[in-house]
Amino acid sequence: MAELPEDEIRSALHRAADLAADYLVGVGDLPVTPSVVPGEIGALLPDEPPLDGEPMERILDDWKSLIVPGLTHWNHPRFFAYFAITGSAPGVAAETLAAAANVNAMLWRTSPVATELEERACDWLRRMVGLPEGFRGHINDTASIASLLALAAARHRLPGLDIRRRGLSGATAAPVVYASDQAHSSIDKAVLTLGLGLDHLRRLPSDERFRLRPEALERAVAEDRAAGRAPMAVVATAGTTSTTSVDPVEAIAEIAAREGLWLHVDAAYAGCAAVCPELRATMAGWERADSIVLNPHKWLFTPVDCSVLFVRDLDGWRDTFSVVPEYLRSWDDSVQLMDLGVQLGRRFRALKLWMVIRAYGVEAIRGAIREHCRLARSLAERIDAEPGFEVVAPVPFSTVCFRATPGGSAQEEDRFNERLLERVNASRRVFLSHTRLPSGLSQEGAPPDRFVLRLAVGNLKTTEDDVEEAWTSILRAARALT
Ligand SMILES: *Cc1c(COP(=O)(O)O)cnc(C)c1O
Repeated sequence: MAELPEDEIRSALHRAADLAADYLVGVGDLPVTPSVVPGEIGALLPDEPPLDGEPMERILDDWKSLIVPGLTHWNHPRFFAYFAITGSAPGVAAETLAAAANVNAMLWRTSPVATELEERACDWLRRMVGLPEGFRGHINDTASIASLLALAAARHRLPGLDIRRRGLSGATAAPVVYASDQAHSSIDKAVLTLGLGLDHLRRLPSDERFRLRPEALERAVAEDRAAGRAPMAVVATAGTTSTTSVDPVEAIAEIAAREGLWLHVDAAYAGCAAVCPELRATMAGWERADSIVLNPHKWLFTPVDCSVLFVRDLDGWRDTFSVVPEYLRSWDDSVQLMDLGVQLGRRFRALKLWMVIRAYGVEAIRGAIREHCRLARSLAERIDAEPGFEVVAPVPFSTVCFRATPGGSAQEEDRFNERLLERVNASRRVFLSHTRLPSGLSQEGAPPDRFVLRLAVGNLKTTEDDVEEAWTSILRAARALT
């Protein structure tokens, strides 16, 4: 087998670039979600792999006929579900080139520019979000992995536990992790994966604005100490996944310092907003964290995947994970990215972050984030002014949580909102998601939480008209259901 001849390399890549450009420019004209049932796409694919190769021309024809119809268009201006994101053109160009270079950034010498660009791009980001020097950034695939690594580093630092040598079987006291009931499920997964046990994750009830209560944290730590357990780490969330609430990081940092807890700040979404100085204030205190994660692939216009983890004590971090067999030994004194986590191999993800920051510049990035926040705020105002609807959480960033209030029992209202979401999404013109939030009004027989709709603005191409269309279709669907 040989690589494609030069003329075919060129034609395949030019065609792929054209298809990508057509997609980026035209995605807004497509329905935002596909019209397929489970198994439908799989049934179109041959059971057997081809014995003989096919021309790239024909394979690329399938992009429009087979692949695009099965896509949920995350790059669509009316994608408002989960956290809306953007794979921007500079990022897409960078991904193409990173694939062409196909380096493995495990060591400095296995591609010096990958390590050095990663350090520089992360340091640009550190400056952009106003974190002090001393935080060193590196890139992982996701915030879930970053939080897992942070809790592993916290466990490594726990006094009296020689985790590297003896593992958890050397523990005389069970390590405990604290977070609010609004923390992301990746924290549960991290606790599971690290063998700490879900019984040792304290998910503390949040306040009426969905923030961790520092008094509850203090109390839980005291109770665990009294019971002979070992408080290990607290996860403060800056921008929770349901409502984007921000835990009181300063007060949590104070307790963490006093109690010797590792402070990990999960700022996967809202950390990106700290690029705007006026949005940074809510995160005050995060500069005291041991580790902070934020996802440029969420709200900094960088294609999935790109999650930046800032670490204060890089030497301690490296001690947590580093294992160096002879064949991977280095003689230079650079950071070796393989030492910073579990995986050996690493993609050259810094290229896209660096290209995105350069292509737009900090001011334009700030402008885009401000515009997303403005669109969300103005929608929230309209929802609040609409009889039969309510906004159910503050809107500090670009995500609105709301529900219809048609009357009836809590269960009937929940059911109405579920059907409302189904109906709005069935139009395929917009795509929203949902969550459940603690209700506060624990009337007899009421569900402990309420079903609420979520609309997140985060795509670079989203305009006022797109949000308007979403709101109009919500109103129309609500009327049809009443
Ligand atoms: C989205 C999100 C995550 C998970 O992000 P991944 O990068 O997909 O793992 C974690 N925490 C918060 C607060 C999030 O919003």
